[in-house]
Amino acid sequence: MSAVLAPVADDVLIRLRGIRKQYGGGDAGQGGPPPVEVLRGVDLDIHAGEFVAIVGASGSGKSTLMNMLGCLDRPTAGTYAFGGQDVAGMNADELAWLRREAFGFVFQGYHLIATESARENVEVPALYAGMPADQRHARATALLERLGLQGRFDNRPNQLSGGQQQRVSIARALMNGGRIILADEPTGALDSRSGAEVMALLGELADAGHTIILITHDRKVAAQARRVIEISDGRIVSDDGTATQIESPVTLPPLDLSRARHDSGAPLLAELADAARAAWRVLWLNRFRTGLTLLGIVIGVASVIVMLAIGLGTRQQVMAQLGAFGSNLLYMASRGESSRIPGRSITLGDLEALADVPGISHVLPNVTGNKVIRHGNLDVQTYVRGTGAALPRIQTWPVARGGFFTDEDDREMATVAVLGARLAQKLMPDVASPVGETILIGNVPFQVIGVMSAKGALTGEKDEDDVLLLPFSTAGIRVFGQREPTYTVLAAADVSRVAEVEAAVDAVLFERHRIRDYGISNAAASIAAEARTQDNMTMMLSLIAAVSLVVGGIGVMNVMLMTVRERTREIGIRMATGARRRDILRQFLTEAVLVSVVGGVAGIVVGVAFAGLLLVWQVPVIFSLSAIGGAFGCAVVTGLVFGYMPARKASGLDPVVALAG
Ligand code: ADP
Ligand code: MG
Repeated sequence: MSAVLAPVADDVLIRLRGIRKQYGGGDAGQGGPPPVEVLRGVDLDIHAGEFVAIVGASGSGKSTLMNMLGCLDRPTAGTYAFGGQDVAGMNADELAWLRREAFGFVFQGYHLIATESARENVEVPALYAGMPADQRHARATALLERLGLQGRFDNRPNQLSGGQQQRVSIARALMNGGRIILADEPTGALDSRSGAEVMALLGELADAGHTIILITHDRKVAAQARRVIEISDGRIVSDDGTATQIESPVTLPPLDLSRARHDSGAPLLAELADAARAAWRVLWLNRFRTGLTLLGIVIGVASVIVMLAIGLGTRQQVMAQLGAFGSNLLYMASRGESSRIPGRSITLGDLEALADVPGISHVLPNVTGNKVIRHGNLDVQTYVRGTGAALPRIQTWPVARGGFFTDEDDREMATVAVLGARLAQKLMPDVASPVGETILIGNVPFQVIGVMSAKGALTGEKDEDDVLLLPFSTAGIRVFGQREPTYTVLAAADVSRVAEVEAAVDAVLFERHRIRDYGISNAAASIAAEARTQDNMTMMLSLIAAVSLVVGGIGVMNVMLMTVRERTREIGIRMATGARRRDILRQFLTEAVLVSVVGGVAGIVVGVAFAGLLLVWQVPVIFSLSAIGGAFGCAVVTGLVFGYMPARKASGLDPVVALAG
């Protein structure tokens, strides 16, 4: 020990003074475990190019010391100077840089990333150093070949023997130069032959100028090093101290520590690409679990797309139909009790007055009610509408067969009738041409002169075709026994002036009635109302879809939390090989986003396919790119938001804690 404490030359690479490490004890007063002091004042100097073995019984603190040396852990007390610089003053990123550039770790349990191939494992440290991909592949290949792993490049760790895995981990330790190889029981899990090979390798590396710090409990293994330090119970008890006579034929150039501060690591894009590749690998390996978790996102995105497509489609259809039936029409009806005739405040006199209102092209009075109609011995209850001769034109409802009654029929109270398409079917199922047939309402015979075209084909409203149309005055007097209209349709000459006409009509009626015992509405207003209802429906459906996206997001969070827990050791390995906190954060965020991108794409495919199917079934559907893009964007954002917490958790792990995990 005196040799170590003696003044040494300035080329000391690692200098430990009074290093202590204590576990627990923080809350000993409250009944926590008593503090354990694992390192109890370690002083140690290591020069560049040395091949040192640290030997000691199990539990003596060797691994703890190695974690200190490798900057995976910080001491409780004491100083650690690396290349003359106090490590305590370096932040997490600078320490990551130091681990990446200065150290190469070889562990008893190899600590390879299980999902990556041998070559990819070797490449990891270079990845975080920002080495371009082709250079990285070439160097990893060369190292693996040098270590005798030809033909095993693409094997995953579980497809390699223990000796081979340890050689892969040595290659990884050398990837960024491996100035200092820290090997913790590297032969511990190996058979004697593989163990001997690994020791031979370490010897060669020492000859090539690498500094080797070998940790072992086995004195025979330790004896192969050029300097043996014995540790017992957290203290160095012997050191054969050949420190001053290292005769390495080669020495590696010293590390420029000032670079730690300006380190920018890997270029963002290259790193993201690599993170995406690694993430894809992991997702693929866990595809069943990932798929299940993704269902939430898939259903969310698909339902947003389908709901919006249906909403838009229905809206447009409704608008088109309402538009086709004349947004130039006004509907006017009595309202409430009238001072004159109960329930019939609007009179024929009113209608005559309205005929003079400018901008009105037609006044179409209607009298309606349900009646039983007989043909032959068939009785059918139907809706009877007495109306004007202009009906087919005003309501864009053409006659299919025969003709329509005229103004003259109306004046003469002719007993002629026109059948709605559905009524014709119901009343005369076996008659080839209903025109010319006679029907009875009560005991009044009517001659059928025409059949209307089916309106339901346009509106989907089949009941509109179950109707009997009669001249207004005939219906009023001979069928319903009233002269006043039930309601009146007013046609404006100019669609764009419907509102003006409505105001004028209101003025005339109010002038005549002095009380608003009538109501006026127009198709434009009902179109707007209908559109609003449709929009509300779409909103509600989209809300439901959005909720399922949130559920999907929680699924992503869940799978990411599981991933982080399962891969704690991988996180430790990545940190030991030089990943900074933000590299880890990026990797897990990339994974979360990739999960949701996959879910989003699947959702788009499912949604579009389903909506397409609806189209085949005649459900009106309109795809909107913004809905599809929006749903996809939401999925990705969901992944980011819900993936952040697990990724944060991963990146916040302590390297030693993660490695032990
Ligand atoms: P070695 O590698 O020499 O076998 P370690 O350095 O792994 O020994 O451990 C030294 C001692 O420190 C052991 O007694 C172990 O129980 C204790 N120890 C190691 N890590 C922890 C920890 N995180 N918390 C508490 N005790 C620990
Ligand atoms: Mg150990």
